[in-house]
Amino acid sequence: MEDNSKIIGIPRAMSYYNNYPFYYGFFSSLGFKIILSDKTTTKLINEGSNYVVSDTCLPIKVFVGHIINLLNKRCDKIFIPSIQSTAYKVNNCTKIRGLPEIIRNVINQSFKMIEPTLDKTNNITFKDFCYDIASQLDIFDKEKIEAAIKEGWTIYNNFQKMTLVGVPFEEAVKSAIEGKILPKPIEIVRPLSVVIMAHGYNLFDERISMRLINKLEKMGVKAYTGLNVSRQDAINSIQELGEIQYWANELDLTGAAAYFMLNNKVDGIIALSAFGCGPDSLMVDEIQYHATEKNMPMINLTIDEHTGEAGFVTRVEAFVDMLIRRKRKIIQESNIKVLPSSKKEKVIVSEEVVKNLTFV
Ligand code: SF4
Repeated sequence: MEDNSKIIGIPRAMSYYNNYPFYYGFFSSLGFKIILSDKTTTKLINEGSNYVVSDTCLPIKVFVGHIINLLNKRCDKIFIPSIQSTAYKVNNCTKIRGLPEIIRNVINQSFKMIEPTLDKTNNITFKDFCYDIASQLDIFDKEKIEAAIKEGWTIYNNFQKMTLVGVPFEEAVKSAIEGKILPKPIEIVRPLSVVIMAHGYNLFDERISMRLINKLEKMGVKAYTGLNVSRQDAINSIQELGEIQYWANELDLTGAAAYFMLNNKVDGIIALSAFGCGPDSLMVDEIQYHATEKNMPMINLTIDEHTGEAGFVTRVEAFVDMLIRRKRKIIQESNIKVLPSSKKEKVIVSEEVVKNLTFV
């Protein structure tokens, strides 16, 4: 019979999309079997939505749905961290900070919450966070905890090595926890590219994002994300725009958009943001300001639980269509101009590519 005391439930939501490879290595090394909640479905969102007030943002409704899902799997110990700040004065929104409180107040079932706090603004470091988890699991052996932290980082670093060279999120998670590192995927040349600025928990949850990356690829558009930018490049790019990093998820949003925009690597920016999210609206406005200044097309796709896939796809298609027309015009104008030889490299792609720019 399975020893229930060595099982921990992890919701496939929120920080799962940033840190799961670490969590996997850490908990496994401490001798725990992890039970993940199922992937997000409409039913799961509806269940979560029933527990919170209607103007709560979609990711929190989804998170509540994942907790219910774990309880239905008879998990009696669930990991719900309170991530207050991830660097000095780099904060999360109040909902992420207060996740354990939200769950305590909306779910009336008895289970043990493993609720460590990370708050670097107040000198509660990531190591403290790990020791906090261990003590809530009645583990006090320093050597064991240190080994678990090391294992967590090993798996996390392998995950990051893969995402930085373009291995898709799901594949990178799977391979990292299997102890494998996949090589850089063979790049398919696509006529257009965009950067998607979004929280990992919105973008890589296929139900929430409605498989946006996949849809773009089918339209011939390469989609870059925050996972394809190193932490340092994202920080430098935010600074280069003259902005400051205030929100914890800023590297995946402002940082990613700024990096690809400043390096002229993309034809446009897609923001995917949750309806009613304060931090998203600030970050999107900030990037919109710089994108307008740099004449870079940008669209903001706001999502909530009522967002229909047909309308969502129509907006994406219209944006891509506009990018195609724009790029075709830029290329044609560049080609008819007699450029001095030093400027010839400004012609972005050849006539051949212009002909092949067709809207799928
Ligand atoms: S950052 Fe925005 S989307 Fe994320 S939990 Fe906070 S309010 Fe919701």
